Amino acid sequence: MTLNDDQLDRYARHIILKQVGGAGQQKLLASRVLVIGAGGLGSPLILYLAAAGVGTIGVIDDDVVSLSNLQRQILHTTGQIGKMKTDSAGDMVRQINPDVNIIDIPERLSGINAEKIISEYDIIADGCDNFDTRFIVNDVCLKLKKPFISAALSQFDGQISTFKGFLSDKPCYRCFIPDHPGDVGNCAEAGILGAVAGVLGTMQAVEVLKELLGLGDSLAGKLVIYDALSATSRTIILPKDPGCPVCK
Ligand SMILES: [Zn+2]
Repeated sequence: MTLNDDQLDRYARHIILKQVGGAGQQKLLASRVLVIGAGGLGSPLILYLAAAGVGTIGVIDDDVVSLSNLQRQILHTTGQIGKMKTDSAGDMVRQINPDVNIIDIPERLSGINAEKIISEYDIIADGCDNFDTRFIVNDVCLKLKKPFISAALSQFDGQISTFKGFLSDKPCYRCFIPDHPGDVGNCAEAGILGAVAGVLGTMQAVEVLKELLGLGDSLAGKLVIYDALSATSRTIILPKDPGCPVCK
């Protein structure tokens, strides 16, 4: 694949980076990323991946855009209320970057469809809002040896890590959260400062691009915790659990 004149112009600020260059940009254009959830995390994530020229972006979400989403889900607009979030995401991505092949999957990820869907992508970015889905993503990503980058939010803080539990020295999501912690509330019940979702979703986009390009230090085995009220973040080590029931 060679870059045409429009692409040389569109991606000029990537190409000028010696760590990316034309070869890195071509790699992004050939990459396939699955985003689970087109909500608070998925919105900035999808926007930045599209702008960066990730060639194929799959978006899975079974929800419709509602008025109360718009306070933080910046992928969607007032005119899209009532549409499937996957349709709204597709409309926006096509406006941002015609290079991107957006694949909309208006379904809920489940134990039945997960393996078939995930197998078609290089990296999975999890922006879902529940533990059941994350456990399914973890199981399938372990089996298929796919890295997945997961972020989660609460009212004024968030956390993010990359899971590569298929490697002998890296934890999986169940090493971190072994069992379903029960009802911990979601945005609808607990509230959230919308821009906090923007911070974490953007960090997810950065980590996806780093993994695709092989740049810098991976977040595998580490967890970044961001606290908006104190304007601080810290990074802790996530060890592999030798007793983990799923990654061994
Ligand atoms: Zn594990």
